[in-house]
Amino acid sequence: MVRDSEPLSFSPEDWQREIAPFDQEGYRVQQLYSWLHSRRVLDYGRMTNLPRQLRQILERQFPLKLTDSTHRAKGSDGAAKHLFCAADAARYEAVFLPSRSGASLCVSTQAGCSFNCSFCATGALGLTRNLTAGEILHQVYYLANDHKLASYRVLLMGMGEPLANFQQVLRALKHLVHPEGQACSPRRITVSTVGIRGRISLLAREAPGVELALSLHFTEDGQRQRHIPAARPFPLVDLFDELITSNGLGKVTLEYVLLDGVNDSQEDAAALATLAYGVVPRQRKTVPPSRLRNRFRGFNAYHVNLIEYNPSPGLKFLPTPYPKAESFQNYLKASGVNATYRRSRGSDIAAACGMLVAGKDRPKK
Ligand code: SAH
Repeated sequence: MVRDSEPLSFSPEDWQREIAPFDQEGYRVQQLYSWLHSRRVLDYGRMTNLPRQLRQILERQFPLKLTDSTHRAKGSDGAAKHLFCAADAARYEAVFLPSRSGASLCVSTQAGCSFNCSFCATGALGLTRNLTAGEILHQVYYLANDHKLASYRVLLMGMGEPLANFQQVLRALKHLVHPEGQACSPRRITVSTVGIRGRISLLAREAPGVELALSLHFTEDGQRQRHIPAARPFPLVDLFDELITSNGLGKVTLEYVLLDGVNDSQEDAAALATLAYGVVPRQRKTVPPSRLRNRFRGFNAYHVNLIEYNPSPGLKFLPTPYPKAESFQNYLKASGVNATYRRSRGSDIAAACGMLVAGKDRPKK
């Protein structure tokens, strides 16, 4: 259930229509929009250049009831997890991730998730509901205010599958990039997805320039579909075809969580390198990196982000030990593929990838 009427979701055109019956000057909409989306002031009472009578109308007709409470936990590496509880008791989380190159805000697009990936604690919870565009934005604004940020990256990498809540995610993205709102560059927004047929190209069309992190994790359809059931209707050949032909898409990164003994062999590294060149290998075999590099000389490869797995109670996977992860990364590099290794952050406060379970201590699996 999505509450479309939530005022933080309103575009300037929506506001124009909504406040038309109250006979206000035309420029009031611009002032109101700027308070909400540029200055991130979520209290009509503080919008001092609006007439008192308009503020009262807004409070009465368009109450900004976003969450009942938020709570915060700070990790040893500076990461901070915020828990949001909506009036209907839906719970979702957002994480502040500071770094030397600037802060990132990792936000949720759904309360829970219906995708049930075998290695993810959030997925094991099931879906409570989609978040509204206002609830998605509120996480960004709340964290940016709380941590006093003028600029930041936005990662739609918290709970949920963004492309499964497409309309609301798109509305939120439109506000974030709106020149009279946060005026975020699309290159500072990353949508993380397992990939849903038709929606990658739609995202490219509707939110051009936004970056995509594709949760690949497995290089062979059978294995990928066993661990990511939502990948069943969208085999790798079709997925890569859509990625390659989606005009307007910003930078694409392939995400690959290293699971000990599951997807971290040399054969996996060779298959991943081939995929990074946009080619779905017909046969799996360990091609030496120099052969791969020569074969694809002159082609640009996707960037690969190797992710350290965060083990979760109740789930049977373990992270690939570091030396092995490093040789996996080196294999990719030697094949001419740009690969980074992302150490887990926020894991001591369960704020890391796949650990967002909104206050529940363990998944139901
Ligand atoms: N549904 C989106 C966003 C969710 S989570 C997606 O699948 O991309 C963001 C990333 O964390 C995904 O790549 C997801 O596969 C990964 N992830 C899930 N559980 C994890 C875990 N326990 N450790 C590390 N990464 C995990």
